Amino acid sequence: LRDRFSALLEARGIEPHRVRVGAASCFGACGISGGEPATFVLARPEKVLYRLSSDEDLVALVEGHVLAGQVVERLKAKEEPIALEFLERYGDVSFFNRQSRIALRNAGVVDPESLDEYIGCDGFKALTDVLARRDPEWVINELTKARLRGRGGGGFTTGAKWALARKQADTTRFIICNGDEGDPGAFMDRSMLESDPFNIVEGMIIGGFSIGAQKGFFYIRAEYPLAIKRIQHAIDVCRANGLLGQNIMGSGFDFDMEIRLGAGAFVCGEETALIRSIEGERGQPKVRPPYPTDRGLWGHPTCINNVETFANISAILRYSGDWYARIGTEKSGGTKVFALAGKVKHTGLVEVPLGTTLSRVVNDIGGGVSGGKKLKAIQTGGPAGGFIPAAMQDMEVDFEPLQKAGSIMGSGGMIVLSEDDCMVDIAKFYMAFSQEESCGKCTPCREGTTRILEILERITQGKGEPEDLDKLHRLSRLCQRTSLCGLGRAAPNPVLSSLKHFREEFLAHIHDKH
Ligand code: SF4
Repeated sequence: LRDRFSALLEARGIEPHRVRVGAASCFGACGISGGEPATFVLARPEKVLYRLSSDEDLVALVEGHVLAGQVVERLKAKEEPIALEFLERYGDVSFFNRQSRIALRNAGVVDPESLDEYIGCDGFKALTDVLARRDPEWVINELTKARLRGRGGGGFTTGAKWALARKQADTTRFIICNGDEGDPGAFMDRSMLESDPFNIVEGMIIGGFSIGAQKGFFYIRAEYPLAIKRIQHAIDVCRANGLLGQNIMGSGFDFDMEIRLGAGAFVCGEETALIRSIEGERGQPKVRPPYPTDRGLWGHPTCINNVETFANISAILRYSGDWYARIGTEKSGGTKVFALAGKVKHTGLVEVPLGTTLSRVVNDIGGGVSGGKKLKAIQTGGPAGGFIPAAMQDMEVDFEPLQKAGSIMGSGGMIVLSEDDCMVDIAKFYMAFSQEESCGKCTPCREGTTRILEILERITQGKGEPEDLDKLHRLSRLCQRTSLCGLGRAAPNPVLSSLKHFREEFLAHIHDKH
């Protein structure tokens, strides 16, 4: 499409300096583009969105927008744009204009393989400032003021985590970017790695400087080949331009990074399992403490942060921690990216201030339930999350309210369920996932998830008994309380929350024997 567009411009005698044709990555509006290629035309002050499906659309774009310049002029004059049916003003698209994009600010805007374009969008300004100040404490203070909390789901304050690693006596330290995204329906990390890799690399270098690390590791799942390619490209380009390696930008700071691939084990998203995997061991969690900030990779202090956490760092340091804190809630500053999926009209990546209601995300941005159906529940937090019933859709999205409602933030999966969905089937789907991914190290998780799944299978085959519900509840609580790591502790959440809010659906299976 891009090549045909360039050829068309050339055929019309339009020189490349007048119209620059670039490449950008996905801007996260899966449901908006309707499966067709979409493109932005950045014609300041208006950003225009086109959906292109045919060569005729390309011709119309060149004739109408590029040659006549009519679109922008007409938009400015508040006249109807010329008859390009596939055109919309960016600001008129409700999927975008109700979002606050910080972590995703460059997604779909910059060429992810161009250092120049990233720098053109103020990239590496934060790093330049940080290295000029030579004051890691300043960075940690700004992050603490920002109330930035780990976007991988733990919700631990990033400033406090970095401070813990920094104060260790051991001066061999590591920083790790956790890109082992494995929740069904989640694609936030993948999109950020693919669309804005230099931003993640910049966040990592700043993190390395702040905790006093010499080396950083990207841990990315092997099923994300484009993300791996783009991060490797960004690392190579940074190294070639003095942004990685010895004496970065003449500051005396030495830091380098490399990628390690995850082989698809969901549990390797857990910090201690991830560390073992990088060390070349079997990816199984360890008892904590010691925490990785005390003794992590090869026994040295190590900070592990999620991709989205790093995506926020440069913006916070450029605009200040106070600015970021003002965007979120009293406890959690800033925004959160959600992968909106399931029975919703506009699926895609949604970034909203923490404290935004679920209803705003699903109805105002997502366009409501698809097919005119009624909303039944919203599932947040991936396989370890719970179901929030439709009656609670005005709940604010933040770590604590979600936990109180029996779910979790997780890394940001958000799946919309309609009146057509059977909650028992969905609880079974998630339990099957957790059972499959249990590493088997501890009995409550290994055996607990297996027995819970057996009961759910019995119930959905019409062979359940009323006392099965008590068994499900007891087993789930046991698994929650006694499992070694987060996978086992959170695996029963979908079962417990569906038992709490949709018990009648379990009883219908049992009594009607279906
Ligand atoms: Fe492994 Fe599950 Fe135990 Fe975690 S809780 S260590 S995944 S068996």
